[in-house]
Amino acid sequence: MSLAEIKNSIRNIPDYPQKGVQFKDITTTMKNPTLFCELIDLMAAHFAVRKIDYVVGIDARGFIFGGALAYKLGCGFVPVRKPGKLPADTIAEEYALEYGTNKLEIHKDALNKGDNVIIVDDLIAVGGTAEAAAKLVKRLGANIESFAFAIELTSLGGRSKLSDLAEVFSIIQF
Ligand code: AMP
Repeated sequence: MSLAEIKNSIRNIPDYPQKGVQFKDITTTMKNPTLFCELIDLMAAHFAVRKIDYVVGIDARGFIFGGALAYKLGCGFVPVRKPGKLPADTIAEEYALEYGTNKLEIHKDALNKGDNVIIVDDLIAVGGTAEAAAKLVKRLGANIESFAFAIELTSLGGRSKLSDLAEVFSIIQF
């Protein structure tokens, strides 16, 4: 199996969820056990020699990759969720979308000062989602070791929003 096979397995859906967007559908990769495992193994290999306390996964597809990565690294998993989904006390960060705003939340007691974390999502486009997650992690005093994505849409420049904060790592680039 190769990176090209992983890349070829990602389905492109034009004009979803709105006109002009090339939606990268990763369900076609995840349902192939060999490709899904290889993708997670590649991510885990990148972080194998580092001391990671938690993988912070972003709602919702970040849970799939982040959960598998945390298992593989033998560290904990912390969810960052859309509003109203986390049951205990939370802090929130709002971020701008092309039209309007969105919000992400994390449990106040999810991380401690000095914890070393990787922030994981399926895909980075303009980077606002991961940047909001990073602000939440920072507010809890944790250290961002890296951002990790299965897919990076390089022409949208999201990397430049995050690279001052930590390393930005992606498996597949479009
Ligand atoms: P952004 O904040 O622009 O980096 O957007 C990243 C978030 O939106 C991730 O959680 C992605 O799942 C989702 N997303 C944005 N653009 C796409 C796309 N073209 N295909 C699939 N998911 C996308």
